[in-house]
Amino acid sequence: MRTQVGIVGAGPAGLLLSHLLHLQGIESVVLEARSRQHVEERVRAGVLEQGTVDLLNETGVGARMMRQGLVHRGIALQFGRKRHRIDFQELTGGKSVMVYAQHEVLKDLIGARIAAKGQLLFDVEDVSVSGFDGAAPKIQFRKEGSLQELTCDFIAGCDGFHGICRPSIPAGVLTTFERIYPFAWLGILAQAPPSSEELIYAYHERGFALLSMRSPEISRLYLQCEPDEDIANWPDAQIWQELHTRLECIDGWKLVDGPVIQKGVTGMRSFVVEPMQYGKLFLAGDSAHIVPPTGAKGLNLAVADIRVLSRALKEYYATGKTQLLDSYSATCLRRVWKVQRFSWWMTSMLHRFSDDNAFDQRRQLAELDYVTSSRAASVSLAENYVGLPMD
Ligand SMILES: Cc1cc2nc3c(=O)[nH]c(=O)nc-3n(C[C@H](O)[C@H](O)[C@H](O)COP(=O)(O)OP(=O)(O)OC[C@H]3O[C@@H](n4cnc5c(N)ncnc54)[C@H](O)[C@@H]3O)c2cc1C
Repeated sequence: MRTQVGIVGAGPAGLLLSHLLHLQGIESVVLEARSRQHVEERVRAGVLEQGTVDLLNETGVGARMMRQGLVHRGIALQFGRKRHRIDFQELTGGKSVMVYAQHEVLKDLIGARIAAKGQLLFDVEDVSVSGFDGAAPKIQFRKEGSLQELTCDFIAGCDGFHGICRPSIPAGVLTTFERIYPFAWLGILAQAPPSSEELIYAYHERGFALLSMRSPEISRLYLQCEPDEDIANWPDAQIWQELHTRLECIDGWKLVDGPVIQKGVTGMRSFVVEPMQYGKLFLAGDSAHIVPPTGAKGLNLAVADIRVLSRALKEYYATGKTQLLDSYSATCLRRVWKVQRFSWWMTSMLHRFSDDNAFDQRRQLAELDYVTSSRAASVSLAENYVGLPMD
């Protein structure tokens, strides 16, 4: 098999890259280790920045999102038994975010690629990449038991944090920057109408809580928990009790509960590798960086990388110039580090740390007070949350 761009991974990064390349007349093949059904049902992120929404619309895959997604014009920060609204529209000159689940975005992208007769290979095994430091990059994989080889001009490593592309880069090339947080999120998906029209980020002495949603019928809620928390120790009734305690701090406001459809524990980590490119292998999305989910940025950052990579490939195939490909890593990393800073800041402001003391708690409360009472600080939060402009 031969193609122009071989893409490992059918998450948001890989599928969007394949879609954008197709619109530019560039061929690609996407290789995915899991089944189509698994990819289309995997519950993950759900907040799309304004720029992500615009890109999906501009490239013809936004119609269902515009019908079913929920436009959010602000969020609430809750602390000290009060709730404060950060009004994105007013603070950013009309911008907002869209609540639309990541797996729904993936269904839309898979639908578009299949309609365009794009090559998406699910359930592939034993994927390996080679030759990317020379002129002949190759991807080997097993499909239905038989070993196959895909030769290509470039390889896009869109295979997430646990993928094979990043570890295939020779030792000593990449520098890793990492922070692991001393807590995790216990998340549930519940058959319950959201108790608030907008997300509520709650700072509480028992730990952080987040009220979020996926649709008018489905709530998504999170609790700060221990990093090694065993979900088996959390019966549904206990999760709801803890959510009621941390979120119901406002007189007269009640959290509506309902049957838990899914639950799990997600670790919290900040992670970046530099550079995001080696030879003809380009890393994009979670394969190159991870953010803690507090800023709702993981999926959006993957989309931002792909925007840069697809433009660089477009220039290369149109003119033969490699300038944009050569600057791919530096261009992406400027945004990556700003998003890392924002995600770390939101996480640090809103969570209880195991070693925090009365000074740290007062400092966090002062920071929340400042963010919600200073227009300059509110603008800073809002412009980062809706998404910084693309370079
Ligand atoms: C449990 C969980 C919850 C999350 N919740 C949030 C959230 O609430 N908010 C938020 O902003 N972000 C969240 N994120 C982060 C967000 O979902 C990711 O940043 C986003 O999925 C990144 O997209 P990606 O395409 O780079 O990687 P991924 O979505 O991880 O896609 C990588 C793909 O590559 C495939 N793959 C892996 N290895 C191979 C291989 N060897 N061969 C072929 N295919 C391979 C995987 O199966 C996967 O389909 C969450 C992540 C996780 C794991």
